[in-house]
Amino acid sequence: MTIRAVFLGALAMAACRGTAEHGPEPPAEGRFVAHYGRASPEFEEFRAGLVANRFLDTIAIRLNDSLRIPRDITLETAHCPEPNASYDRETRRVTLCYELFRELSEKFAREVGGEYLVSGTLVFALMHELGHALIDGLELPTVGREEDAVDQLATILLLNQGPTGDSLAFGAVGWFALNAARNPLDDMAFADHHGLDQQRVYNIICWIYGRDPDRYPEVVKEGWLPDHRAEGCQAEYLRLARSWDRLLAPHRPGVRAPPAPPPPVGSG
Ligand SMILES: [Zn+2]
Repeated sequence: MTIRAVFLGALAMAACRGTAEHGPEPPAEGRFVAHYGRASPEFEEFRAGLVANRFLDTIAIRLNDSLRIPRDITLETAHCPEPNASYDRETRRVTLCYELFRELSEKFAREVGGEYLVSGTLVFALMHELGHALIDGLELPTVGREEDAVDQLATILLLNQGPTGDSLAFGAVGWFALNAARNPLDDMAFADHHGLDQQRVYNIICWIYGRDPDRYPEVVKEGWLPDHRAEGCQAEYLRLARSWDRLLAPHRPGVRAPPAPPPPVGSG
């Protein structure tokens, strides 16, 4: 296998919008920490590229600049039993598996547009798991499926990066579309806590389109997104972006925790 560091240097990931606003900050108790786990010889070149390009460090720095968290959350690359990405609530570790990179790069890196499919899927997966970590670590409410909520956050974070981020989001769409085409549905797919791959395709395209319908009108013209969904995408994206902004606002640097509410008064 030839490991190609396809997404090195492609990202300057602004992990979340919003920075310090006013007032002295109370000390943050937790930090986002970058960690590059040991890699077997076949992944050493890939790992060295990540380290040299400060891939996880850059994300962690941006996160530390934009969010206060009560306890450390580690962003790591590591070997895993399966090609995957995950968040572990016990250890508060977001893990991007070297095996996921291998699977993606072996399948797609040589195809036209494959580099964005590989890098977009990897970064989307990392941001998706970061969403789980934030919901857990910040005890954020979710009304609806958590898997859908963190797909929203991953997409928002990518789209906030400009054209490169848009391409990465389209890359993630390509991954879900390929999965949808290759894996026939069985009944158990409907019981999964994730949306169906084809639903994730339409969701992410809807949000890319909805963020600025003038930017990618071809997604509707060429039939990637049906009209009846497209017409609501701008409002849908605005609503979910504002919702995530409100959820994260109390955790921005410079924002003090609100005073505890008074004890309830008896109704007499
Ligand atoms: Zn998930």
